[in-house]
Amino acid sequence: MDLAGRYPNLHVSQHPLVAHKLALLRARSTEPKLFRELVRELSWLLGYEAMADLTTQPITVETPLEPTAGAELEPKVGLVPVLRAGLGMVDAMLELMPSAEVWHIGLYRDERSLKPVEYYNKLPDAATVQVCLILDPMLATGGSSSATVDILKHWGAARIKQVSLIAAPEGVATLSAAHPDVDIHVAAVDRALNERGYIVPGLGDAGDRQFGTFAGPSSEPGHASGDEAAEVVRRLQRTLAGEE
Ligand code: URA
Repeated sequence: MDLAGRYPNLHVSQHPLVAHKLALLRARSTEPKLFRELVRELSWLLGYEAMADLTTQPITVETPLEPTAGAELEPKVGLVPVLRAGLGMVDAMLELMPSAEVWHIGLYRDERSLKPVEYYNKLPDAATVQVCLILDPMLATGGSSSATVDILKHWGAARIKQVSLIAAPEGVATLSAAHPDVDIHVAAVDRALNERGYIVPGLGDAGDRQFGTFAGPSSEPGHASGDEAAEVVRRLQRTLAGEE
């Protein structure tokens, strides 16, 4: 399936460093410390690519020798990490753009319905930035991302981009259908979602792997998201297939 051909808003990094670091990130043997470092390094590289088309305005800079022409970023940029897994992507982006504002949005995925549930949103009434980068390591069903874009558009953000480490085809399709104007920057698009809504081959739970929280309910033996989650995934897959 040629997703990049079908979705012009999808940008899959072709950088060899990204491919190398992504393989390390996926490995089951990668411990949380290294995992966090890799999330940070990958976010830096993907952020660099995602911001390649930001506009600049001309300025004059005084070097020690003489004035010269320079440039400064035109739009104000907001980083919107989706709690909690998106937190690990923030520092790298702030290194690239120290003046960016960070606005947290808390959404969790209901394990049964796979629907996003909003639990934290302190955005002020009017948008304070023009460009928003949604930071979420895994673009899985696309439900959380679409909901976040809805919130940011309603807020008044003029331009929105999604930066994720790995996407599922189902997530790309859902987000692109709802918001074709949102650019999606990823290190890879994987094969599919499994019946629990996890990306395969993926890397597991990006939050648990960053924060070392492997003992949560979803890791307990016998835990299953149930029929509802599996049906949601099947519906997304039917939609994706229907578009072919
Ligand atoms: N969230 C994750 O952390 N991993 C997945 O595979 C899907 C959603």
